[in-house]
Amino acid sequence: MKAADHFRAMRDKSPEEAKFFWSGGPIEVAERTWFQSRFSGVTAFETDEGIVLVDSGMAPLAPALAALLREKTAAPIHTAIFTHGHFDHAFGLKAFLQAGQPQPRIVAQRWILGRFERYERTSRYNAAVNARQFGGSAERAEPGGEYDNFRGPELMPDTLFDRELAFRVGGLQFQIHHCRAETDDHCWVWCPQRSVVCSGDLIINAVPNAGNPQKVQRYPWDWADGLRRMAALEPATACVPVTAVRSSAIGKKSSAC
Ligand SMILES: [Zn+2]
Repeated sequence: MKAADHFRAMRDKSPEEAKFFWSGGPIEVAERTWFQSRFSGVTAFETDEGIVLVDSGMAPLAPALAALLREKTAAPIHTAIFTHGHFDHAFGLKAFLQAGQPQPRIVAQRWILGRFERYERTSRYNAAVNARQFGGSAERAEPGGEYDNFRGPELMPDTLFDRELAFRVGGLQFQIHHCRAETDDHCWVWCPQRSVVCSGDLIINAVPNAGNPQKVQRYPWDWADGLRRMAALEPATACVPVTAVRSSAIGKKSSAC
């Protein structure tokens, strides 16, 4: 069964039942803060200056994600944060923008640029790997097909950081922490005033994909350290978008970390 079939089979199921394959939202996870997921999740923090958006979903699914968010707020996107450069996190931003609005600030860890360059150079190879992993056969990796998505995003990050970055939007503070984990360019986000942590793919509501002979090196020790740092914050809410859904982790307890 292909991954898309698993998601279809789990439609309308509870987060507890669907786990990694959950779709849904918008869920109000804190004051003026909404989470929604289609294959991967997006968290939106509304402020008086606009929205801070954490992740943006896959390009083909982003219009559906944006429509869910727009049920709650029409505010413009002030800042977007990409937790890492995977295709289901950094490629859907355009769908969230208002017509004619200038490109918002886009924040990411510096190594995301090297990732996109590698994608351009190895797109056919990576398409074959993913076609095998998610579709059962490398023969599904045809050009223009569903796995032909290894390239840079249309809207590139313009605000890069190395280890940590802190900023305020509309009086709301955000702290972003680099943590090598599923990728070398991974980061997680902490909003202390709303007590919300966004883990990116450090948590995927399934066994962490910390080792896979077909993928590039991953970083389980740094990963574990990042999980402990998030847990130590004792967030009221953990948004664990990640690669495919999961938002069961969204609860009013910090159980996800
Ligand atoms: Zn990922």
